[in-house]
Amino acid sequence: MSATVIDGKAFAASVREKVAGHVARLKEEHGITPGLAVVLVGEDPASQVYVRSKGKMTVEVGMNSYEHKLEADTSEADLLALIDRLNKDADVHGILVQLPLPGHLDEDLVINAIDPAKDVDGFHISNVGLLGTGQKSMVPCTPLGSLMMLRDHHGALSGMNAVVIGRSNIVGKPMAQLLLGDSCTVTIAHSRTKDLPDVVRRADIVVAAVGRPEMVPGDWIKEGATVIDVGINRIDAPEKGTNEDGSVKTRLVGDCHYESCAERAGAITPVPGGVGPMTIACLLANTVTACCRANGLAEPEGLTA
Ligand code: NAD
Repeated sequence: MSATVIDGKAFAASVREKVAGHVARLKEEHGITPGLAVVLVGEDPASQVYVRSKGKMTVEVGMNSYEHKLEADTSEADLLALIDRLNKDADVHGILVQLPLPGHLDEDLVINAIDPAKDVDGFHISNVGLLGTGQKSMVPCTPLGSLMMLRDHHGALSGMNAVVIGRSNIVGKPMAQLLLGDSCTVTIAHSRTKDLPDVVRRADIVVAAVGRPEMVPGDWIKEGATVIDVGINRIDAPEKGTNEDGSVKTRLVGDCHYESCAERAGAITPVPGGVGPMTIACLLANTVTACCRANGLAEPEGLTA
């Protein structure tokens, strides 16, 4: 079998288009412009890139983007004071604090200071609890994007065997909750799981969120299964030559060995161009959802779990 390639780039573009349509309606019919505030502490180069592209895409769908860049040595009190101001600002419907934070700041404390209704990353303990009990919540963006792709590909997921590899709070655990919410039989595998290949071989749906390059080979994949590869890993690519400074060029790979998995899977997300682009699209979707909820308006369909 040769797998259907799930095109995350195109799917994310369609989600952003839907978001833009809702934003236009909110403006025309209600005079409301959704706003997303992104807080960046310090100068981590990867975080700067993420924050820039989040800001750009926020503006592209017609929303207001508020960027707050703070010095790396910002005190916890100053950061909490900013979050408090954003919580009270009626023009701000979504707040995202870019992680990781510098070591002197307590991430849990900071995230839990965000108004849960504006917590568009879905990391606040209240949202984690709401998701876990099947109630309306803000859902973490990467698992939400993965779920959207699965629903789009399969329609109903009810009764399917899903194996999530990885148990992080930002991907693995919320992903498992979402699949359970869609009535899958869910197994969460992790670094201590015994006989991982055997566990994965039973899965109709495999979600890999580990952070180990190409660790899942094709012979772990059940014939016809759907593979959602969340991993983003940079590896040396000597075949691409060297950079100006003499260092070896690199390329991105997922947690699954793409070629061999694609031979057995029914459908697979590539890396790059699979789950990655869905994450920011879902951040924008969550901001529109938060804005609608804050204003007592009907939520956009198809943009939430
Ligand atoms: P994490 O390091 O917090 O968690 C990794 C998980 O993998 C842990 O729960 C651990 O138990 C499990 N694990 C480690 N070694 C294992 C092994 N040998 N066998 C089975 N399980 C093992 O990572 P994370 O934040 O969940 O991210 C996972 C990957 O997803 C990373 O590559 C990250 O870059 C990527 N990611 C991508 C997006 C996106 O937008 N596409 C978003 C978030 C994370």
